[in-house]
Amino acid sequence: MAGRLIVISNRIPLEGPGSGGLVVALHEALTDRGGIWIGAQETDADTASEKFTRHEAPGYEKLTFELTAKDQEEYYLGFSNSVLWPLCHRRTDLIDFESRYADGYERVNRRLAHMLAEILEPEDRVWVHDYHFFPLACFLRELGVKNRVGYFLHIPFPNGSDLPALPHHETFIDWISSYDLIGLQTQRDVAVCLEFFRGHPKAELLLDGSAKYGSRTTQVRSFPIGIDVDVMLQAADARRADATLRLGDGERLIIGVDRLDYSKGLVNRLKAMESWLQHREPDEPRATLLQIAPPSREKVLAYREIRDEMELLTGKINGEYSEIDWTPVRYIHKPVERELLAALYRRADVGLVTSLADGMNLVAKEYVASQDPEDPGVLVLSNFAGAAEQMPDALIVNPYDVDEVGEAISQALRMPLDERKARYRELMRGVQEQDIRWWTRAYLDALARCPVNLATETEGSCD
Ligand code: ADP
Repeated sequence: MAGRLIVISNRIPLEGPGSGGLVVALHEALTDRGGIWIGAQETDADTASEKFTRHEAPGYEKLTFELTAKDQEEYYLGFSNSVLWPLCHRRTDLIDFESRYADGYERVNRRLAHMLAEILEPEDRVWVHDYHFFPLACFLRELGVKNRVGYFLHIPFPNGSDLPALPHHETFIDWISSYDLIGLQTQRDVAVCLEFFRGHPKAELLLDGSAKYGSRTTQVRSFPIGIDVDVMLQAADARRADATLRLGDGERLIIGVDRLDYSKGLVNRLKAMESWLQHREPDEPRATLLQIAPPSREKVLAYREIRDEMELLTGKINGEYSEIDWTPVRYIHKPVERELLAALYRRADVGLVTSLADGMNLVAKEYVASQDPEDPGVLVLSNFAGAAEQMPDALIVNPYDVDEVGEAISQALRMPLDERKARYRELMRGVQEQDIRWWTRAYLDALARCPVNLATETEGSCD
């Protein structure tokens, strides 16, 4: 297809191709097709430049736009992570709003829209990633940009009933309808998004599932993100885990891996472990929960609070249930290198994912991809993780019911080999079929096919 692919994401790897599923997938998509990757870079200057900085990258271009300390505080930590993140993860109670955050979010998105409009050529396709850039297309349309602009939201689509928690929430429909294609993680997200359009007096749903608002039509579809399966398989060498990890004779391993984020249901997970310990039959083997939870967004109050809560609860459970030769919860508050992570997944008898709200949860897929096909572990997966839609062969649980999760842990630890293998085969088939390359291709094909909107202007205004 003619025209360049232009990808926008807040994070951009500047040294080499980078690591992590999304970053690698975008790198590959751009290497195959050529194009430009645009992301943010911090600056010490008081004023951000109005021009992109060019970085060397083989096969495509990398451009960065600057974020000052004020931008970081207002656009990134403020509006993106203290307002939009809790909003989309159904935690409006945790929204910490200041009007300067909304100003900073608009300022950065507007600045980026101007810089982008300067370099766009008529045939270019733009692919915008995530909640940092909800209004970007709207600002581009205001500048007369007619290019195809697609969006992918990696986190849950916000409930329409929660949106009034946003300042100027009436403009949200103008923001999202300025995109030609809205990609979401799950069918459930698509339903929430379409319901939002349906509930708006000036919008209508068309028979093909797209949404019409004013003179613009927006396609809304789900593209569940996948992982790089081969990378996990190659890295998953259980011997490496054995060399690092000391477990007692016959002791089983349960693993949890998450950024320390309130959306991940970590407190509920510890309580579920407590419930399992409380109800454990005398003949049941010992098991240890290895919870790896690296620090995340510690400048935001809600993240500091969850850290305190985790430390308190870990101490309480271990105080009550530890034996001289057994500590049931090992809580590690730091990042772990990816190869060791894959080895630990493979070594673990149970992968425990208890998110209270999650766009996808790649850890669930990474856990499955790392298993030994001859002796696979069991995935216990929250119904509220996007991955649950594609992974019905996991033990699906309600993370709010800690006794139910405790029982699922027990069921997983007792599960016969035949059943573990059967569940693993089904799960692995899905993880392999819809991997990260499938995801990039599926989205970009849909963007290339979606009808072009002749109109640039939106019905209302962008701010
Ligand atoms: P989110 O994007 O909300 O953090 P996901 O589960 O979708 O949640 O993705 C998390 C990614 O971060 C996974 O690829 C996972 O392997 C990685 N990750 C999580 N915790 C750690 C850790 N302690 N060390 C290294 N990587 C981690």
